[in-house]
Amino acid sequence: MAEIDYGQVTGMIHSTESFGSVDGPGIRFIIFMQGCKMRCQYCHNPDTWEMETNNSKERTVNDVLKEALQYRHFWGKKGGITVSGGEAMLQIDFITALFIKAKKLGIHTTLDTCGFTYRATPEYHKQLEKLLAVTDLILLDIKEIDPEQHKLVTKQSNKNILLFAQYLSDKGIPVWIRHVLVPGLTDIDEHLEALGDFVATLKNVDKFEILPYHTMGEFKWRELGIPYPLAGVKPPTAERVQNAKEIMKTETYTEYMNRVHSS
Ligand code: SF4
Repeated sequence: MAEIDYGQVTGMIHSTESFGSVDGPGIRFIIFMQGCKMRCQYCHNPDTWEMETNNSKERTVNDVLKEALQYRHFWGKKGGITVSGGEAMLQIDFITALFIKAKKLGIHTTLDTCGFTYRATPEYHKQLEKLLAVTDLILLDIKEIDPEQHKLVTKQSNKNILLFAQYLSDKGIPVWIRHVLVPGLTDIDEHLEALGDFVATLKNVDKFEILPYHTMGEFKWRELGIPYPLAGVKPPTAERVQNAKEIMKTETYTEYMNRVHSS
């Protein structure tokens, strides 16, 4: 059988960012993939939801890597590339091919995902294992631990997301767990406690972060003509972030902001 030419695999790309500093260690080249089936109320990239839009582009792995490599000298020892979205795992063949090529070049690879595409089936595991073999770090967003609240926040179930977290733990794949804290929506003390308890059972967590909700994506909803469900909701206060940190035993808001500004 002919060997796959991974460089020619194509994916639908929303955009790229040359100097990402919060989506993985060090300075990173970020690739935002098109397509997502969740509908998070606080999504700051609603323009990635559809798989094809007027602004998205179909690009090859070689083309994306060529662009990324222009910035390699900024990455130092810690940096590399991160694929984000949208939900990058909807295009698992593309990101697997991209990471296979990247690892051959000694590049650190990070996958930012909500884990929603996970399926506990042998077929899916076969695909997933190929990807995980070339993935150094996973940034896993857990939007809500409570099943009903998760549906309210994202319009989808969290069943497969939590199974995915467990699977990664069983496989020993390093993860950073991230939780976006939205006043009145994902900032509920007993849910935070349950999330903290769940994360404490995982054996592969290198970092557990609270990402305070921000309103920077609101204008995109307006541009797309979609009513913004969180209109008028303000970012959480430092006190509420500190409260969540204490309940879930994560890093503090100050530590997070210092890291964002110093990296
Ligand atoms: S998973 Fe990410 S891209 Fe998808 S709706 Fe939620 S925040 Fe937006």
